[in-house]
Amino acid sequence: MTTYVWNYLAEYESEREDILEAVDQVFRSGRLVLGDSVQGFEREFAAYLGAGHCVGVDNGTNAVKLALEAVGVTRGDEVITVSNTAAPTVVAIDEIGAVPVFVDVRADDYLMDVGQVEAAITPRTRAIVPVHLYGQCVDMAPLLRIAAKHDLRIVEDCAQAHGARAGGRTAGTFGDAAAFSFYPTKVLGAYGDGGAVVTADAGVEAALRRLRYYGMEKTYYVVRTPGHNSRLDEVQAEILRRKLTRLDGYVKQRREVARRYAEGLAGLCGDGGLELPVVAPGNEHVYYVYVVRHSQRDRIIEALAERHDISLNISYPWPVHTMSGFAHLGVPRGALPVTERLAGQIFSLPMYPSLEPALQDRVIDALHDVIRTL
Ligand SMILES: *Cc1c(COP(=O)(O)O)cnc(C)c1O
Repeated sequence: MTTYVWNYLAEYESEREDILEAVDQVFRSGRLVLGDSVQGFEREFAAYLGAGHCVGVDNGTNAVKLALEAVGVTRGDEVITVSNTAAPTVVAIDEIGAVPVFVDVRADDYLMDVGQVEAAITPRTRAIVPVHLYGQCVDMAPLLRIAAKHDLRIVEDCAQAHGARAGGRTAGTFGDAAAFSFYPTKVLGAYGDGGAVVTADAGVEAALRRLRYYGMEKTYYVVRTPGHNSRLDEVQAEILRRKLTRLDGYVKQRREVARRYAEGLAGLCGDGGLELPVVAPGNEHVYYVYVVRHSQRDRIIEALAERHDISLNISYPWPVHTMSGFAHLGVPRGALPVTERLAGQIFSLPMYPSLEPALQDRVIDALHDVIRTL
C-alpha cells in the first residue's frame, strides 16, 4: 500500500548539509544542555511570533502541561477544551490532575464552538485550552471576552498552528500562554522531539523556566515548588533555529498544495458531496493537515485502498471523550454530537511541503474515480 501521508526524506536531502552542520556546531560548542542554541531559538521564535518570551521544552504535550501549571492551574481545576483534537491536549490536562471539560466544535471548520463555552463554566473552571486545529485559529475575540469576564486563563494549543494568523495576530499571542510542538511532522518540525511555551507575562515565563528545570531557581539551585525535567534539547534547538528561517517558505508550499487540492477537487463538491476546508474570514491557514469530509468516508477510504493502492490518515477517527483511557471523565456518547458525527466523516489528504505535484495528482484523480462510482 502506498502511504504518502508524510515523508521527510526528500526535505532532509535538500537540507542535509545545514542539519549536519547544526549538529556539529552543538557538539563542538562544549555545552550540550541549555546552551546558546536553546537561548537563541527562544529569542528568535518569540520574535517570529511577536510573543514576549519563549521557553523551550521537551515536547508539545509537556508544553501544554507546563503552560497550564505556569498560569496557575492545579489539581481539581476544570479546564474547558475540545474532544476533536490530538489526544495529548487532553493527556496534558489530565496529567496534572485537572479535569478536562469538553465543548463541541463547529460543523464548518471543526474548531471549538466558542458559543458553547460560557454554559460549560462552573465555579471550579480555571482555564480554557482552545486548539488551533489543522492549522487555523479558533475564533479568539469572543473567547478572550469570556475569559476576561469570568477571570479565566487561556492556554492556546498551537501544536498545529506555527505561523497561523487571525485578524493580523499570530497564533500564540492571544492567550496567557501558548504551547507549541516541534514533533517532526509539525509545520515547524525538529529531527526528534521538541516543544516551547510562549507568553507575554514575565512571571509566567519565570515559572516556566523553573518548571522545566526540576522546579529550581537556576541561579540558586533551590527548589521552591517541585517541577519536572522538560528541557528542549540543544541539538534540536539549533536545528529549529535554522528551520525557523525557512518556516515562511514551508507554509507557502503548504498553501500551494492546498490551492491545487481546491482546484482539482472542486468538481466533487456541493450538495452531499465532498467538503473541503473552510477558512474563516480573516484567518490565514497554515494547513498542517488538509481535512476533507464526506458522508461515505469509510467506503471512499476502502475503495482508495483497493482500487488505487492509496492509504490515507484520519485526524482523528476517535473523539478523545470516547477513548477508554478517558472513561473516568464520564462523558457519555452523544454528548458532543458534531464532534462524534465528524469523526465518522473526515479524512486527511497528503499534505507536506515537499509533496510532489505528480503524487498529489494521483490522489486527486483517484478521489474523482472513487467518488464518481460510489
Ligand atoms: C502534536 C500535538 C500535541 C503534542 O505534541 P508532542 O510534541 O507530540 O508531545 C499536542 N496538541 C496537538 C493539537 C498536537 O497536534
